[in-house]
Amino acid sequence: MRDRETRWRRRMVRTQIRARGVSDPRILEAFEDVPRHLFVEERFRREAYADNPLPIGHGQTISQPYMVAAMIDSVRPEDGDVVLEVGAGSGYQAAILARLALKVYTVERIRALADGAVKALRSVGAANVEVIVGDGSHGLPGYAPYDVILLAAGVREIPAALLAQLAEGGRLAAPVGGRQHQVLALIRRTEGKLEREELTPCVFVPLIGDGGWDEHSSTVSGSDARPSEEGPLSVTVQRKTHVDKDRTAYP
Ligand code: SAM
Repeated sequence: MRDRETRWRRRMVRTQIRARGVSDPRILEAFEDVPRHLFVEERFRREAYADNPLPIGHGQTISQPYMVAAMIDSVRPEDGDVVLEVGAGSGYQAAILARLALKVYTVERIRALADGAVKALRSVGAANVEVIVGDGSHGLPGYAPYDVILLAAGVREIPAALLAQLAEGGRLAAPVGGRQHQVLALIRRTEGKLEREELTPCVFVPLIGDGGWDEHSSTVSGSDARPSEEGPLSVTVQRKTHVDKDRTAYP
């Protein structure tokens, strides 16, 4: 007899993710394995597997399950890949990536969210994820290059620092466009050249920071993750992605 969350999760994968065209078995399995309800507040647990984003505090959201899947499917992480995520939020997308890649670095600008992500990631045994507090629009040059880079927040332009940290053969996915609406863009570095493809309309919270938007206005800021005032930022997770934001605008 499976618990109800497992049943909800299986249904989520079948009706929201597979039904919309994600077919990579490794990706589907990762979504079946990771208990999404552990990445949301207690009061939202019943809604954790619903077809929409949910609030995680501080004006931020955990993305709609399909949006997380579409983004990950576009970059196809492989076993040996090193991944950089910008915008850890709840830690859920990092937990999925952790099942698919060798190592995941995820940067979050809001310390309280980073702390929550660390706890949730620990609770699911994601030992290969490192959560770092800072402005991820600079990337993390110290661990570059990355086989995969994911921006979990919207940008007007992909910051040059992130493109520079993409490995040969690497894939970068980012919501690119205005503050309210974006298109999921996929960049590939092949033989030194960057190729760009536009995939699907989407709506993400803005990337706030030097290479992103200004926090309180609709202007773009000027353009290395910086430590917060509280000291070492790198929190290595020890063993064991309307006001509906972060969703695709599929019909
Ligand atoms: N991937 C997350 C998850 O699975 O829950 C969802 C991320 S949420 C849509 C976007 C996150 O990006 C927010 O937590 C926000 O604080 C963060 N963010 C915005 N600007 C950032 C920046 N410059 N550096 C790092 N994180 C940033």
